[in-house]
Amino acid sequence: MIKLIASAGRPRTVAVISIAASAASIAVVAIAGVVLGSFGISMNYDIAIPLAGIVPLIVAPALTWYLVGLMLHITRLEGEMRSLASYDALTGLLSRHAFFDRANNYVSLARRDRSVFSVLIADLDHFKSINDQFGHPAGDAVLRLFADVVNSVARRSDLVGRLGGEEFAMILPSTGTPEALEFSERLHDAIHKAVLKHGDKLIEYTASIGVTSFDPESDESLDNLLARADLALYEAKANGRNQTAVFTDRNAQTAAS
Ligand code: GH3
Ligand code: MG
Ligand code: MG
Repeated sequence: MIKLIASAGRPRTVAVISIAASAASIAVVAIAGVVLGSFGISMNYDIAIPLAGIVPLIVAPALTWYLVGLMLHITRLEGEMRSLASYDALTGLLSRHAFFDRANNYVSLARRDRSVFSVLIADLDHFKSINDQFGHPAGDAVLRLFADVVNSVARRSDLVGRLGGEEFAMILPSTGTPEALEFSERLHDAIHKAVLKHGDKLIEYTASIGVTSFDPESDESLDNLLARADLALYEAKANGRNQTAVFTDRNAQTAAS
């Protein structure tokens, strides 16, 4: 109903409601005339019917113009609130909450279809020193640039979310480890090429990435997969940053020791 009103627009909705109110009012007066007539009370139709038609045409537009406007305003605010909850305000990527929501749905589907997919966690390297060196707004600009870069490399079907701070997660549907590694290399490459101009200086940054893939024969949860991608990320950091590491039993043991 609200969608119908929103697509029709305020003036058309008000016109339709006013005409309907006028028609309903004429019908009610006509029926009242018949009922009163059965009791022997006569009604002056020449005055009653035109009045019944005109009064709603004067009153309804003023009232419905205000009410329809209020309804459309509330609908717009609702949409904005939903968007604020789903998308990170700084980068425009999925918020942590929305990412987990959609990723959990996706994992359930992939588990049912026994289809492979990959999970990546990317963390910008030495980001604190970018803030320290160039200031917090410049750090924000780097985060926005990173989001643009990921979007330029990712497919529409990929899920990309900001987990928090300078940490991001990605789910690549129908993608095994070798293709996820290719994606990751393209991402490193794109990050390298997209340098941020800051006054007369250039801000260069890098990212470390952890990769793991869903085993279609298993019943792994999203939390499990993210924990594994995190262990791989830990290895990428430990190996010198600006690189990708894939989860193996070996990096799990290294992290545990
Ligand atoms: P590492 O390579 O080990 O990841 O080092 P790092 O400096 O990137 O990691 P660390 O966790 O020490 O610092 C993360 C920094 O990210 C600290 C925090 O102030 C900054 N940060 C988090 N969120 C934001 C943000 O929204 N904007 C900006 N500009 N900085 C942020
Ligand atoms: Mg970092
Ligand atoms: Mg971090």
